[in-house]
Amino acid sequence: MTTVLDRFLRYVQYDTQSDETSSSYPSTATQLVLLRDLVDELHAIGLADAAIDEHGYVMATIPATTTKADVPVIGFIAHVDTSPEMPGERVRPIVHRRYDGTDIVLPDDPAAVLRLADNPALAEQIGHDIVTASGATLLGADDKAGVAEIVTAAAYLVSHPDVPHGAVRIAFTPDEEVGRGTKHFDVARFGARCAYTVDGGSLGEVEVESFSADAMTVTFHGFNTHPGYARGRMINAIKVAADFIHRLPDTEMSPETTEGHDGFVHPYVVQASVERTSVKLLIRDFQTAALKDKEAIVERLAREAATAHPGARVEIGVEESYRNMRDVLDRHPEVAAHAREAVRRAGLEVRNRLIRGGTDGSRLSFMGLPTPNLFAGEHNFHSRLEWVSVQDMEKAVEVIVHLCRIWASS
Ligand SMILES: [Zn+2]
Repeated sequence: MTTVLDRFLRYVQYDTQSDETSSSYPSTATQLVLLRDLVDELHAIGLADAAIDEHGYVMATIPATTTKADVPVIGFIAHVDTSPEMPGERVRPIVHRRYDGTDIVLPDDPAAVLRLADNPALAEQIGHDIVTASGATLLGADDKAGVAEIVTAAAYLVSHPDVPHGAVRIAFTPDEEVGRGTKHFDVARFGARCAYTVDGGSLGEVEVESFSADAMTVTFHGFNTHPGYARGRMINAIKVAADFIHRLPDTEMSPETTEGHDGFVHPYVVQASVERTSVKLLIRDFQTAALKDKEAIVERLAREAATAHPGARVEIGVEESYRNMRDVLDRHPEVAAHAREAVRRAGLEVRNRLIRGGTDGSRLSFMGLPTPNLFAGEHNFHSRLEWVSVQDMEKAVEVIVHLCRIWASS
């Protein structure tokens, strides 16, 4: 029987880095290599309808074993791509058996040391088997841990027809890390009432809340002329923008000073010239309605800055990014309740965590597929110090199997 660890070690050796500068879909062809091999593997474990579509999405069905009518179809989703922020080529996974709490020095970079002191989550892993990369690359547990867990749970269910469950859909997606994981996701074809992304951190986590997010662009228009003859004529948009940035909230409402349920306003890109300077800002809050309040503050400060520089002009654009999936999940309370019950049946404590960001589930929930996020066991995402515990991955497989049972019995 192939274990979740066997699968995980195999998947991480595929280079599946996505690329935000690419205009193709998926953003890199290398992702398709793993996606196509997953189709073959799903066929081999007995999922006859496994297929890849023209965008690279892999979908398959675990056929129902229950004879009960009206058991809802549920789904499990994981992404195959890894973050463009860190090399993902030639990943060399290392299994550290029976972790004893001492520092783990990664062989390819002596500066890459996994320390218990910096990683409180490691305290729960004493005696467990930890997988890391070798120090030169990320590991790719985000989200190949989720892929390995879903395939292993599928193989288990296929070989245990005595476990009663309804039809279960699975999907593997490209390009999550570049924000395009749901771009061509066909919710109708997936055909599930709800789904779970398996892409979270610590054991027992069930995530039902993400940020609501907008993107703002504040553009200041000045007037450029030869600086030697600019007296009384030049209006420097760079200085107007600097004035605006200086007026932004600093000790509150910024990423550096908030945590938990607090949202923020975050300038993150400036494109500057004397004639025209634009500032891009991320607007985040767990309360969707509160985004408007934050945007009103930004707009007021931008107009004040422009007014303080006679002749300058400001233009403000707001674009919706994604919404707190809780707005949808609250209308389908059984989706999260069953997930929590599955975690408890696996002998774990439920951890309800807020996602101070978005997930594919945030978008899918608003596309008609309520989709909270379950733990996969990933830690130190997008880092050369990324790690996952083998025992946590095994628990995630158990939770998936319990969830399938619970939906068939409720
Ligand atoms: Zn992920």
